[in-house]
Amino acid sequence: AQLDTLDLVVLVALLVGSIAYFTKGSYWAVPKDPYASAATLNGAAKSGKTRDIVEKMEETNKNCVIFYGSQTGTAEDYASRLAKEGSQRFGLKTLVADIEDYDYENLDKFPEDKVAFFVLATYGEGEPTDNAVEFYQFFTGEDVAFESGASAEDKPLSSMKYVAFGLGNNTYEHYNAMVRQVDTALTKLGAQRIGTAGEGDDGAGTMEEDFLAWKEPMWAALSEAMDLQEREAVYEAVFSVVEDDEKSPEEESVYLGEPTASHREGSAKGPFSAHNPYIAPIVESSELFTVKDRNCLHMEINIAGSNLSYQTGDHVAIWPTNAGAEVDRFLEVFGIQEKRHSVINVKGIDVTAKVPIPTPTTYDAAVRYYMEVCAPVSRQFVSTLAPFAPDEESKTEIVRLGNDKDYFHEKITNQCFTIAQALQSITSKPFTAVPFSLLIEGINKLQPRYYSISSSSLVQKDKISITAVVESVRLPGATHIVKGVTTNYLLALKQKQNGDPSPDPHGLTYSIQGPRNKYDGIHVPVHVRHSNFKLPSDPSKPIIMVGPGTGVAPFRGFIQERAALAAKGEKVGTTLLFFGCRKSDEDFIYKDEFKTFQDQMGDSLKIITAFSREGSEKVYVQHRLKENAELVSELLKQKANFYVCGDAANMAREVNLVLGHIIADQRGLPAEKGEEMVKHMRSSGSYQEDVW
Ligand code: FAD
Repeated sequence: AQLDTLDLVVLVALLVGSIAYFTKGSYWAVPKDPYASAATLNGAAKSGKTRDIVEKMEETNKNCVIFYGSQTGTAEDYASRLAKEGSQRFGLKTLVADIEDYDYENLDKFPEDKVAFFVLATYGEGEPTDNAVEFYQFFTGEDVAFESGASAEDKPLSSMKYVAFGLGNNTYEHYNAMVRQVDTALTKLGAQRIGTAGEGDDGAGTMEEDFLAWKEPMWAALSEAMDLQEREAVYEAVFSVVEDDEKSPEEESVYLGEPTASHREGSAKGPFSAHNPYIAPIVESSELFTVKDRNCLHMEINIAGSNLSYQTGDHVAIWPTNAGAEVDRFLEVFGIQEKRHSVINVKGIDVTAKVPIPTPTTYDAAVRYYMEVCAPVSRQFVSTLAPFAPDEESKTEIVRLGNDKDYFHEKITNQCFTIAQALQSITSKPFTAVPFSLLIEGINKLQPRYYSISSSSLVQKDKISITAVVESVRLPGATHIVKGVTTNYLLALKQKQNGDPSPDPHGLTYSIQGPRNKYDGIHVPVHVRHSNFKLPSDPSKPIIMVGPGTGVAPFRGFIQERAALAAKGEKVGTTLLFFGCRKSDEDFIYKDEFKTFQDQMGDSLKIITAFSREGSEKVYVQHRLKENAELVSELLKQKANFYVCGDAANMAREVNLVLGHIIADQRGLPAEKGEEMVKHMRSSGSYQEDVW
């Protein structure tokens, strides 16, 4: 049959419609809102945006790209700060880029008159962050293959200027390995580093000061290399924040705390991930111990029907809600409590600026669900508030705090103040002139916290257990007690669930029901992160576990699993646990459960305890390890896996040292040889750490 004109019009319209439908978001010239759909890994590729950074910089007229490799958001935050400073102080045209959103094969075409920054966190055992894995493999692999065919000998990156800053933790063996290795690789390929490769140390608690000390000489060197003129920094908002008085916060399009668009629409479905949490029911919660201000929680989170799965040794991430009392304080300090439920639209003023919070939202929801308002505050951020101080006196004080490191330390850092508390300590007047954009720029996104899953997936595949000690810390010199964001929220959920007389710990007033009551019935947003902390695949292999305090969490899962295997008649090797706490009758968590496991497993389960506050001297797990050198050495000879979980700063390091001594002593080897053997165990996977 022939097509008449009407058929043709209909057909063409259908064709155009379906092209538009199938290319939605990829070819339409609208900047992608990260919250418009559940963001995916490799977002740029999926949304059809260019992965060519050279082209992107050309198109958007930028001369400075700041790549970040970030796991928990800190490196991303530093990248944004560098971008802002580069633009405001030196007139650079900056672009912040997630390192996984671009290709690396064409970096040999990086123009001479531009600069690339690399802000790279090191994760775990000297590994790249998840978003930097490909980048890391590209530059540190055997052969770097550029699109142009240039080889390493050609010094293909000789036109590239770069700046590097690493975020690491000196309590880990491979301190700042990521930035060090990338720096070496880039230099080897001919790129010219400007300034030194900075290293921030989270372990020593000096990240912020390391950053501040590194950046000034770097800016001086960069100004010289690129002929930049420093000017007086004037604040330029990165985002426009517009109140929409017409819109009611009840309207469906407004985010009231939901993590993604599909959660807002009520259509959230899997796969659930770090970008799309599952709103999981907490089916059971209890306190493993309660003494004065210390509580330890045990919770069971149901993941049945979610398609989420876990394996023994994995981590679960909990997405917290800020305490109502802190939300109120913040809104009051900035004079926005009256209009807290006004709807705001947040947009990047520059097309490349990524809005870190979902929009439209309300001030209340932004502060309660999306911003890390309770974190320690940085000197640099406080000083950006000076021009907006309510009076001259407060302004002078803020300028002094910004310029004097020691004074800032004494007045703010030592007091463990959040941003709102810091400003309250300066004046009781509200800081109404501070643009909300500045707060979005300067305050991190509220981050999920990780917990080592304390159950076995073999025994309870649909229920994830967590074991969390409630953070309630009075740091020396501080006048108030720091209440951890997530753990106190969990405590409130536990109290609510159990009908406790005070479902409001410490007057923190959590919004337990969540946005639009979606967390009602005790739900919490979670995702699962797979880890390499794993039992040997052959259960007859012996294992040695060192896990004091909540460090025992994954080992409860390990023991649960081995007890179940033993009950099924499988041959299970010696299962040795070193556990430590303050007192046997106070904080010995899972004591009764361990007794039951011992009944099931007989002699093959051995638990050696260290109680630090029972005898005249403090005894820790590492002392017990030493006392049991012979047993440990014997098990290692039988190819035991060795596991450490818990405190990274002291315990894990000590245990590592002690194990080296044990191996050397027991085998009659020099001390260095013992250390070397532990290193070898680490690289072969028979020494595994899960520390924080
Ligand atoms: P946060 O609010 O994050 O505070 C944490 C600490 O930061 C405070 O104690 C304080 O020292 C400091 N701090 C916070 N605010 C301020 C301020 N304004 N000024 C000065 N200092 C401040 N924990 C467990 O209990 N069990 C586990 O099984 C477990 N497993 C983990 C596994 C991994 C892989 C990781 C990375 C961590 C794990 N943790 C575990 C730790 C957990 O993720 C959280 O860090 C911990 O529960 C505290 O979270 P929070 O939100 O309650 O405290």
